[in-house]
Amino acid sequence: MNCKLIDGNKIAQEVRHEAAERANLVLKKTGIRPGLATVLVGTDPASQTYVRMKHKACEEAGIESFGLVLPAGVSQSELEAKVAQLAADERVHGILVQLPLPKHLDTEAVLSKVPLGKDVDGFHPMNIGLLARRGCEPHFVPCTPWGCIALLERSGVPIDGRRAVVLGRSNIVGLPMALLLQERNATVTVVHSRTQNPEALMKEADILVAAIGIPEMVKGSMLKEGVAVIDVGINKIDAEDDPRGYRLVGDVDFESAREKAGWLTPVPGGVGPMTIAMLLENTVLAAERVLLETEAAV
Ligand code: NAD
Repeated sequence: MNCKLIDGNKIAQEVRHEAAERANLVLKKTGIRPGLATVLVGTDPASQTYVRMKHKACEEAGIESFGLVLPAGVSQSELEAKVAQLAADERVHGILVQLPLPKHLDTEAVLSKVPLGKDVDGFHPMNIGLLARRGCEPHFVPCTPWGCIALLERSGVPIDGRRAVVLGRSNIVGLPMALLLQERNATVTVVHSRTQNPEALMKEADILVAAIGIPEMVKGSMLKEGVAVIDVGINKIDAEDDPRGYRLVGDVDFESAREKAGWLTPVPGGVGPMTIAMLLENTVLAAERVLLETEAAV
């Protein structure tokens, strides 16, 4: 099979460039930069890295960023009060609460304090509900699945009328991914940890999105010839020959999948770069709605 590799770095760069142009236009028209506030609770190194990357990306796109760091022991009410402050801050157009939060905190309650118009992560329960309802538009779509759709669409993968299988049903990837594909008229099957005979379902897929967090679980032998494979998984596996002592692999066995797939995203360099790119796009969209619409009204 002549497999086309989907270059997530290149497509993310395009999206980031478009976001930067739009941010610049907002600045020119209103004198105000789009602004993103991040909320980081605790000192988890991975979360710190993600937040740092988001701030750097904002800077490159001409988006103002505001970083709020709170101690791991912050109470529910203190955290919600901080989110409410950001909600009222006119400089902040998007609010991102870095997940996961420490276990003593109620994540759903915190996320529901982010105003819908500033929910650039798309995790507010109402935004997920709007995504699920036919004929309704969410204010924002969660960044990782939104990035997967951008990869498919910008690579010319047909979705309408095709069979899609989504592996995983998490709130942040699998569930919204399935809804987005269905909205684009794919016939969608969600495969999860309790699904019986998943391989038979996978074999029917024209589009397969893997978001399970199990290294290289999907093998080429499980795929239909010509399928478009989007590998969301990011897993560390031991690698003695790597100076870091590990390497990153997806949920898909890249080499065997490449023999069968028509399109395939690599790990790293596939879905990974898209998440931040879509966050920038959502933040600019949030600012455009507030600033350009206000301008139009006066
Ligand atoms: P999660 O742990 O919240 O959800 C995993 C899902 O996989 C669950 O719904 C579970 O039912 C399902 N699952 C588990 N075992 C399965 C099996 N054997 N067969 C089918 N389904 C099974 O994970 P998540 O947050 O959705 O993340 C999934 C993967 O995507 C992880 O590797 C994560 O690191 C990666 N991820 C990448 C990005 C990115 O930017 N590229 C963003 C988010 C998550």
